[in-house]
Amino acid sequence: MALRITQHCVGCWACAGVCPNQAIQVVHQVFTILTSSCQECDGDYPDPQCGAICPIEEAIVDAHNQAINPPGSLTGVPIAVRHHAQSLLQ
Ligand code: SF4
Ligand code: SF4
Repeated sequence: MALRITQHCVGCWACAGVCPNQAIQVVHQVFTILTSSCQECDGDYPDPQCGAICPIEEAIVDAHNQAINPPGSLTGVPIAVRHHAQSLLQ
């Protein structure tokens, strides 16, 4: 099983240097996790290191499309507040 980088990625490069398997590559200017190389850090670390260092919510998801850092987990902003703020901008 491998993790996946989503469209929320801002290309900060933080994850690329911490992967023990060099599974994170930039392909056509998009950060990508090579499924053949990612082992979800199993055997190396207790948690996926890319997810641990990524500063953007929902930028990395697991094999079930569950965000490693779900909405609100890093910012502390509740989802309802975020949706309200987004509605004000539309
Ligand atoms: S989960 Fe671990 S092995 Fe997979 S891409 Fe992230 S840092 Fe690399
Ligand atoms: S750490 Fe997160 S935001 Fe930065 S390049 Fe990796 S996936 Fe993208």
